[in-house]
Amino acid sequence: MITRSVNRVQTVASDQGGEHSGDWRRQLAGAIRDPEVLCEALGLDAAWLPGAQAGHRLFKIRVPHAYLARMRRGDPFDPLLRQVLPIDRETDAVEGFVSDPLEEAEHRPLPGLIHKYANRVLLIVSGACAVNCRYCFRRHFPYADNTPSRREWEAVLDYLRSRPEINEVILSGGDPLASSDERLGWLVERLGGIAHLQRLRIHTRLPVVIPDRVDPGLLGWLAASRLQKVVVLHVNHANEIDPAVRHACARLREAGATLLNQSVLLRGVNDDVDTLAELSETLFAAGVLPYYLHVLDPVAGAAHFDVPDGEAVELVERLRARLAGFLMPRLVREVPGERSKTPLPQRSAQPGSS
Ligand code: SF4
Repeated sequence: MITRSVNRVQTVASDQGGEHSGDWRRQLAGAIRDPEVLCEALGLDAAWLPGAQAGHRLFKIRVPHAYLARMRRGDPFDPLLRQVLPIDRETDAVEGFVSDPLEEAEHRPLPGLIHKYANRVLLIVSGACAVNCRYCFRRHFPYADNTPSRREWEAVLDYLRSRPEINEVILSGGDPLASSDERLGWLVERLGGIAHLQRLRIHTRLPVVIPDRVDPGLLGWLAASRLQKVVVLHVNHANEIDPAVRHACARLREAGATLLNQSVLLRGVNDDVDTLAELSETLFAAGVLPYYLHVLDPVAGAAHFDVPDGEAVELVERLRARLAGFLMPRLVREVPGERSKTPLPQRSAQPGSS
């Protein structure tokens, strides 16, 4: 067991505004960024520390206290901790696992803009995240080259104005909600002024890991936009949804957003039927529709999370026998060069599923 006093962890959290300060910026700034502090805070055996430090050197650790509070102390296999704790296997070079698995570099006409699909584009609004997920397919993304200045955003807006076939803009990152409300409000207002845009989609994990991010500032610019709003959350396990997350979801819906969820199928986190069924039920109870279940993108450093396709398909078939049809996420893979997500083959639905 790591022996340094837990009091120190509590002091660090308190000094940095880490614990329940109510101010999301302070919580963001106060996130744990040191493997030793994380292991200590959760009372993990010291044997986990060298691996955590090795993985941390490749992709920095970042865990907000509001997320840490949902983990079980002393359990290195906690499904939330597994998503954020670096381990030594991240240093393994595994054939087929690469730095840019989706080949996004091919689809960047301007800094901050990814245009892969005909009617929609993705804007990299922020290179920052509230949490660093070890399986993230953008863990090697060159954010420094893709965080546009306001002048560069004007070029992106011109690009959108000149392409009437684009009807949807997706705010992504990093986590787009790590940006300030002033910046987001400016951008969303400009997007709303482009007549052929219909939808604004926001892919974010912040309302899950720091629910206080859903504050009046965010709700103000969101509710004010004329665009149809879709917020796609990223939840992989039912334990991530606590009362504060449910409250944040309710407020987003009140602001006019449709809430969807996408998960990643992760070995050791959610790769069993009971866990996936509970996740769908818990999401729906919070007003969030399960949308996609992604198989892992083969990013270097994350091979230990991989679930083979055959096993994934079999899992989803068994899940279908447990859940109503509207609770079933679609099992998909992102294939570089394809014009949409690729569904994984599924055999016919079981009798009795609806
Ligand atoms: S982009 Fe999303 S999945 Fe990747 S580290 Fe950030 S929050 Fe996690």
